[in-house]
Amino acid sequence: MSKLDAQPQLIDRFGRHVTYVRMSITDRCDFRCVYCMDEEMTFMPREQLLTLEEIVFVLRAFCELGVENVRITGGEPLIRRNVDWLFEQVGLLKHSTALKELNITTNGSQLPKYAKSMAESGVDRINISLDSLNPERFRELTRTGDLNAVLAGIEAAKQAGFKRVKLNAVIMKGRNDDEIIDLAQFAIDNDLDISYIEEMPLGHVSHQRDESYCSSDEVLAILQQAFELTSSDIQTGGPSHYYRVAGSKSKIGFISPHSHNFCESCNRVRVTTEGRLLLCLGQEHSVDLREIIRQYPDDIELLKQAIIDSMEIKPKGHDFNLKEEPIIFRHMSVTGG
Ligand code: SAM
Ligand code: SF4
Repeated sequence: MSKLDAQPQLIDRFGRHVTYVRMSITDRCDFRCVYCMDEEMTFMPREQLLTLEEIVFVLRAFCELGVENVRITGGEPLIRRNVDWLFEQVGLLKHSTALKELNITTNGSQLPKYAKSMAESGVDRINISLDSLNPERFRELTRTGDLNAVLAGIEAAKQAGFKRVKLNAVIMKGRNDDEIIDLAQFAIDNDLDISYIEEMPLGHVSHQRDESYCSSDEVLAILQQAFELTSSDIQTGGPSHYYRVAGSKSKIGFISPHSHNFCESCNRVRVTTEGRLLLCLGQEHSVDLREIIRQYPDDIELLKQAIIDSMEIKPKGHDFNLKEEPIIFRHMSVTGG
């Protein structure tokens, strides 16, 4: 199929065009962030995961159906063996399909090893999670993470020549809300963008989500004490609403699933580590793509038809409630954040 043939073919019942896929390539991680995972986690048996070849096959199907933006995530994607091969193969889809942007979300710990080869394979943008600049607190929030390794990863990403490097910070009351300004200043000093994310009730964790919840409006009010911010209509394909910072190239974004529901303009679907196509992060509507590709391994047209048909069950929106026990038992690491 030539690039010109790639027409948007994924349109749901509400007229939303699906042009963005997030693919979780592993549920494992070298960190155990308190909002993302329980202290003790049981990971999926390896045979249940899509193989790297299957991941490329699934992404090819999506990109032949008009998907322009692929984000590789996890778990921690960079701890999957041979991940550099995956980036090479997915990068090549830019020549033959609708794919325009290949992006990744990572905790940064493995970037000194992979940043350069990823940029060479055509990875465009990279998001790095950073919730604290204090080494002890960083360790508390990630349970196992080493701040210095992540700072070295951020430096490696800056040197590698990606289109843009962005930080992601989940702000939690009483845990890191006193670092909101410092994190933004760090982004500005390093010519990076930063997005603040509202915590979502995905999977069981060891704290009460409603006690730690910090809204984007609260974060914004704190930032406005230190920076001159102007709301913008910048779009990067994701759900962030961005502000410009006077005197700086850095953008400050907010991902606000609770306070500013972005479902109306949702353009995305997710594929979980075991190949389940999830039509909404906050609902269970899904299609088992792994079953299809293992039964009919080379039939990309069949796979594409299943993806087209799935548009019929994409729900109108999510239904998060912080006060109730999670209705979504999947951790973010399985779903792909
Ligand atoms: N390991 C990589 C990382 O940390 O960037 C990629 C996967 S992680 C699941 C993707 C993003 O989801 C991270 O920015 C993380 O902070 C965010 N995240 C994880 N659990 C979350 C939750 N319950 N609510 C909001 N964001 C969450
Ligand atoms: Fe790992 Fe990312 Fe989850 Fe932290 S947020 S535990 S780094 S998958």
